[in-house]
Amino acid sequence: MATVHVVPVNDLIEHDSSGGQDCVCGPTTEPVPGEDGSMGWLVSHHSLDGRELREQRR
Ligand SMILES: [Zn+2]
Repeated sequence: MATVHVVPVNDLIEHDSSGGQDCVCGPTTEPVPGEDGSMGWLVSHHSLDGRELREQRR
């Protein structure tokens, strides 16, 4: 299972994208289908300065 972290750049805090999902920002984890048919996890970290983050990968 692949885990992809989407982390806001230049955020005010350091995000833990080392593989765990216990970042201080309380990231949203959702299952996503991989290109080879397997399932992976998309971990969307939240910016703490108010910005919204959009995943644009297709
Ligand atoms: Zn985070």
